[in-house]
Amino acid sequence: MKITKVEPFVLQVPLKRDVSDALDTNPFWGVPGCLIHTDEGIVGTGYTGTYSWGDECFADIIGTHFAEVLIGEDPTEIKRLWDKLHWSNLHWVGRAGMVSMAHAAVDIALWDITAKAAGLPLHRMLGSHKPEGVPVYNTDAGWLNWTKEELVEDMGRLLEEGWTHLKMKVGHDDIRIDIDRVHYVREHLGGDFTLMVDANQKWNLQKAAAFAQAIEDLDIYWFEEPCHPDDVRSHVELARRTSIPLALGENVYSKFAFRDYLVSGAIQFVQADCTRLSGITEWLQVAGMAACYDTAVVPHHGDFAQVQQHLVAATPNAEMMEYIPWLLDVFVEPMNYKDGVLVLPETPGASTDFDPDAFAKYRIH
Ligand code: MG
Repeated sequence: MKITKVEPFVLQVPLKRDVSDALDTNPFWGVPGCLIHTDEGIVGTGYTGTYSWGDECFADIIGTHFAEVLIGEDPTEIKRLWDKLHWSNLHWVGRAGMVSMAHAAVDIALWDITAKAAGLPLHRMLGSHKPEGVPVYNTDAGWLNWTKEELVEDMGRLLEEGWTHLKMKVGHDDIRIDIDRVHYVREHLGGDFTLMVDANQKWNLQKAAAFAQAIEDLDIYWFEEPCHPDDVRSHVELARRTSIPLALGENVYSKFAFRDYLVSGAIQFVQADCTRLSGITEWLQVAGMAACYDTAVVPHHGDFAQVQQHLVAATPNAEMMEYIPWLLDVFVEPMNYKDGVLVLPETPGASTDFDPDAFAKYRIH
C-alpha cells in the first residue's frame, strides 16, 4: 500500500455554551487534521485539538511539509514514518507545540489506515486488555465561569443521572475563591462521589500548596495541573506538602518529559494525550513506561476520546476515561457509554471518521 495524497483540513465546531478554565474561554473547539489517501482506497483520518488558536498553521505544516515526507510511503510502516517525521526539517523550528500536534494528526491517521487494513478496531489490533470498557468521568459540569450555585446545580444533575466521578475547575488568582467553591460543592452534594480538581497549570508552588492544604479533608481524588507543566521541581515539592495525588500530562509533549516526572515520583496519574504527544506511537511508549512505575494512565481528552478509548482499552495500567460531550455529533461513531462505563466500538479503524454532513458544515479550510 502507498500513500497517494495528504489532505489537510480544519474544522471549527461551535460549543453549545461558552466554557472557561483557568486559561481559556472560547466558543469554538478547533479540529485541525488530515485525510491520508492510499492507492488501495483506504482513507485514514487523524486530528488534534485546539481552542481554534492557530488552526490554519496546522494545515500548512501537514499539507506542505509533512505531505512531502509521506507521499509514496507505505502507511503501515508507522514507527519508521514516526522517526522520519520527527527528524524532518521542522525539527529545527519545533519539537513541541504545533509541530508535535500536527505530527499527532498524521500518526493517528496512519494507525487508522493500518487498523482498517487489518479489519480490526484499533483496540483489538493493539491487543485488547479491557474489551468490556472502563469507567468514565465527567468534566462538563465544573467550569470556572459557573457560579457556585450553578456548579452545585449542574454537578447535582449529573449525580442524579448516575455519574459517580466528576471534575471541577479551579485556578482563580485569589485561591480563597476556589477553596470556598470546593467546600461549597462538598457541603451541598455530599461526599458520596469521586471529585477531582483541575487548575490548568495556573498557580505557582506557593498558591498550589496553600490551596491543596485547605482542601485536604475533602477527599479529593486528584489535583490536576497545579503548576507549569515543565516545572518538575515544583511538583516534587508540592507532592511533599500535600497528601492529594497529583495528575498532569495534557501539556506534556514528549516521552522524555514524562520519564522525568515518573522518575521524580511527583505524579500518580499520567494524563498523556495522543493529540499532544506525537500521536499514538509515542502515547503507547509513555503508557508502557508508566506501567514500569506502577502509575495509572488516565488520558486527557484532546481527541474527545475517539482514539484514546482504543488506547485505554489496550493498556493494562489505564484506569478511566474523561467525558466531555462537545463533539459527539461530528463523528460517524461517537464514543459511547452505558451505566458509567465505556462501550467500545467494533468497527475497523480508530473511530476517527467524521460524519460527512458535519465535516462539510464545520470545515473552514
Ligand atoms: Mg485538565
